[in-house]
Amino acid sequence: MSSELRGSQAEQFVPPGGVIGIVGGGQLGRMLALAAARIGLDVHIYAPEKDCPAGRVAAKTWSAAYDDANALANFARACDVVTFEFENIPVSALRQIEAAGTPVRPGEAALENSQDRLVEKRFLKSIGLNTAEFRQVDGPAHLETALSHLGEGFLKTRRAGYDGKGQIRLVPGDDAAEAWARLGGVPAIFEQRVAFARELSSVVARGLDGTLKTYDIPENTHETGVLRQSRVPADASPAVLSDARDAGERLADALDYVGVLALELFETEDGALLANEFAPRVHNTGHWTEDACITGQFEQHTRAVCGWPLASTHRLCDAVMENLLGDEVSTSLERANKRSVTRLYGKREIAPGRKMGHLTHLKHPRASA
Ligand code: AMP
Repeated sequence: MSSELRGSQAEQFVPPGGVIGIVGGGQLGRMLALAAARIGLDVHIYAPEKDCPAGRVAAKTWSAAYDDANALANFARACDVVTFEFENIPVSALRQIEAAGTPVRPGEAALENSQDRLVEKRFLKSIGLNTAEFRQVDGPAHLETALSHLGEGFLKTRRAGYDGKGQIRLVPGDDAAEAWARLGGVPAIFEQRVAFARELSSVVARGLDGTLKTYDIPENTHETGVLRQSRVPADASPAVLSDARDAGERLADALDYVGVLALELFETEDGALLANEFAPRVHNTGHWTEDACITGQFEQHTRAVCGWPLASTHRLCDAVMENLLGDEVSTSLERANKRSVTRLYGKREIAPGRKMGHLTHLKHPRASA
């Protein structure tokens, strides 16, 4: 490393006691805020809601819209570094924060390439990762053609879909016009269904100096598009796990990423990996890391965006993370056993399928770290 680079990186270092700003006020922001507080940082949350899970554990909450230029500039000036906890914030908000002189990590490229499924899939392919076959769909006629060429698959909105929302599963013969209208008549993609053997994800941390640290690859189970469970170790071969790790690291390098990201992957029956999507933030499939690893994803992300050295991702035990969705939160205390860690998000209202908390069941502690 040149002394010039060392110098500029030193300026980008947030000292202990500094202020980290987090855009977004949900559970990911809350868990980031708690982890940041444990390593001596003050946390400011920026979110449109007045009362949000993250704001209730932070030093200060800025309640304002994502297009409020004044509030964004004031928030930026109060923070040493800013990060975000979900990807559907306007890129313009990040630009306004940076214009006020505060670095935003990860940067715009990560946000831009993950907000739109078409851009995202093309980007993943451009860096040499395979994806399911897909087509751009801008109207019912496109959908009709895509369905007849690709067979069974998923119509997905290009923007703002999450947790299975904004997508419809279709088989040949289904009414394309009706499906297009049901999805809201918005720009979309149609993606061929992958007959996967399992779903995996690569949760990767990349530091300001480009150092990579990747967690053990979890195996994930979804129900109706929502994550139900993540478990480690995954039941995949060492070769597949190593490919999954490489894919995540390739993505992080290609984006010159700083922080934690997650790349979701399908493993096909013949052991090939197809990249599904990535999240430029801490991720639900990495929640187990907080309780099963020396350093969990929330602290690791915080360290990375503050320019600190990354800490160990070493896994101390096997783990199964189970999401508590909707009403399941009411019985979470009974469901935990003596090897479970209970994490609840402090959401005031229970809604069907809403992520209310999670349990991580820890197994087989290893003799040595
Ligand atoms: P997504 O919103 O793209 O992450 O999709 C949510 C979940 O739906 C995935 O984790 C899969 O379980 C399922 N899914 C999405 N796309 C496909 C696909 N092309 N083939 C098979 N399953 C899929």
